Amino acid sequence: MTRPTRAHIDLTALRHNLAYARGLAGSARLVAVVKANGYGHGAVTVAHALEGAVEALGVACIEEASELRESGIGTPILLLEGVVDPDELALAERLALAVVVHNREQLGWVQAARPARPLACWLKLDTGMHRLGFTPAALAGAHAALTACPQVDQVVLMTHLARADELDQPYTNRQLALFAQVCGDLAAPRSLASSAGLLAWPAAIGDWVRPGIMLYGASPLGEGHQSAARLRPVMTLESALIAVRDLAAGEPLGYGGRFVCERPTRVGVVAAGYADGYPRHARDGTPVAVNGQLTRLIGRVSMDMLTVDLTELPQAQIGDPVELWGRRVSANAVAAASDTIAYQLFTGVTARVPLIHHAGEMALESANRGD
Ligand SMILES: *Cc1c(COP(=O)(O)O)cnc(C)c1O
Repeated sequence: MTRPTRAHIDLTALRHNLAYARGLAGSARLVAVVKANGYGHGAVTVAHALEGAVEALGVACIEEASELRESGIGTPILLLEGVVDPDELALAERLALAVVVHNREQLGWVQAARPARPLACWLKLDTGMHRLGFTPAALAGAHAALTACPQVDQVVLMTHLARADELDQPYTNRQLALFAQVCGDLAAPRSLASSAGLLAWPAAIGDWVRPGIMLYGASPLGEGHQSAARLRPVMTLESALIAVRDLAAGEPLGYGGRFVCERPTRVGVVAAGYADGYPRHARDGTPVAVNGQLTRLIGRVSMDMLTVDLTELPQAQIGDPVELWGRRVSANAVAAASDTIAYQLFTGVTARVPLIHHAGEMALESANRGD
């Protein structure tokens, strides 16, 4: 018997979500973003599951790209933040990476490089995120400088949207308009959309889309948006009951006595806590499923355990499976009850939790006593 806490990764759901993204993208090419260990889903396995089905993979840093190349991934890889120094540019060239160029320093390193094979560069314009990218005034000059480099064989123009998850926000339209105006008639493919852009802003689709979170089955637009029903959760974080007990009305439960029983309460103790990546800030009432039935978290989450209300689930007993998020309990719902976002939940699953990848159709009731 091993610790029952694990994250099941449904690769069929991943491919389903990719097909949905593909449908929205039309003829645009697709960079599947697999940074941060594939948003916690296991970058190498996710990349292999996507290989042949996407035009490129996106990562945040060279270590992530290197891990993919070492595992035999041959798909083009885009380094989303570009390189941090000239040595990294040399390594990026050896690994055949496309690099984002977002400032003058990076542009200078590209100009000075003498790579053995041509470099693909994604030139980033800051249209309002104000994190990375050339200013509108500097963009045309940077584009001319890059295209004048004999060692650069491809330039894609890109930007990143700051508020695409807010559907009635005019800011996205301002960013789209600025991008169109500044890029003018520069002859280069364009890329603006991550998941939210792809799902909600058709004008942002351009020539390349860069979905991340939606591939893993969480809509960046929340459970209320129609996309939520079209996406299939890829990760199911599950554990099991390790104790069941009855408390009288008025008894406090757990650290700080945050929860006090309003009535005689049957409490289940689950073998998962914040050291597994379950958010410590989850409030009383956060949804959780025991034996596939919805109930609620009660009491403060501790390092290795959390507690749930079994009063309405009198059959529940030690060993029964508990879904913390996944197909019955959306990661978005847990995130909302914890003042965070599904991205942070997925990327926060810790090394203590084994990732179990399922290549075929995953049974809904994956946890069985003693499996
Ligand atoms: C992370 C990232 C994405 C993917 O964003 P999602 O919201 O997960 O779809 C796209 N583009 C860039 C530049 C990113 O850093």
